[in-house]
Amino acid sequence: MGYESAEEEASYKTYGREILTKFWEIHYADFRMPLAVERMFYVDINGIKLRGYIDRIDKSDSGGLSIVDYKTSKELFTTDDLGKDLQLTLYQLATEQLWQLPVEKLTLYHMRSNTPCSCGPRDKKRLAQTEQLVLAVAENIASQKFPATENQYCPCDFPEHCPYYRQQYAAAALEPPWQATLPGITIDDAVEQYASLQERIKELQLELDKLKEMIIGYCQAKGLNRVFGSKHAITYKLVEMTGFSEDKVRALLEPEGLWERLLSFNPSRMKQLITDEEIAVDTRKKLATLRQVISTSPQLRVKSWRKNLNLPAPARRQ
Ligand code: SF4
Repeated sequence: MGYESAEEEASYKTYGREILTKFWEIHYADFRMPLAVERMFYVDINGIKLRGYIDRIDKSDSGGLSIVDYKTSKELFTTDDLGKDLQLTLYQLATEQLWQLPVEKLTLYHMRSNTPCSCGPRDKKRLAQTEQLVLAVAENIASQKFPATENQYCPCDFPEHCPYYRQQYAAAALEPPWQATLPGITIDDAVEQYASLQERIKELQLELDKLKEMIIGYCQAKGLNRVFGSKHAITYKLVEMTGFSEDKVRALLEPEGLWERLLSFNPSRMKQLITDEEIAVDTRKKLATLRQVISTSPQLRVKSWRKNLNLPAPARRQ
């Protein structure tokens, strides 16, 4: 791992020493000679050879194996992390192949807090799925298909080959033929203009929302459905959304033994029920009457308007 400065390196060294000292204090009393440490392995999965190193393997009193992977990550591992950890699954595959003994325990050891986070071994199904995964990855590698997937460790040690970072490394990126695909603008300017336009759109949207609220408030206060500017007119409409109340539908259908047929309560299912000829006409009619307004949303529609358009003169009061 690279350090930002000599001070940072020294501070990590001190921290590392503290962690190891604490580790020693906790474990020296019950120390047992491990079966292996930093053990290199080759695992053969249908002809695909996978190589790796396992931090520590212990043999338990019952004769099974226990795998420990020491981690310096900041966060403590959750049960979910343990369950999903691919590395541990691969270690189990390798260890069982290497020693022909069953793995009984998998551990991610959190060094910063000296906490062993353990779980039982993966079952046969999970091991078989992992083997399939390895084969699929190997096949993709063989056919040169390994799309970059951004993750918490980016940028890694190969950013110059990565489509997410490569452009920064390619000095020629700003030269032709890139220019040919972006006539009249460099990629650098295109990126900045795009970002600034997006920012302006956000600001404009905020302004638009404010004006919309004001116009709706005005229309509602004055009882108007349309308001006029010098060139445009805006029509205000309260759009009603209709639907069904789950409680009311249930109260109607349950006594008739039809509630279970609904399977899921959603608008398209209700539409099907209302037209379902296997259901009594009377029930379907009652169901249709349960449709009610469930929400309203004010909408504005803009259109051009000629101010001088002749409107009939207001009727005179007699
Ligand atoms: S920088 Fe690119 S290649 Fe490296 S890990 Fe991230 S996505 Fe993958």
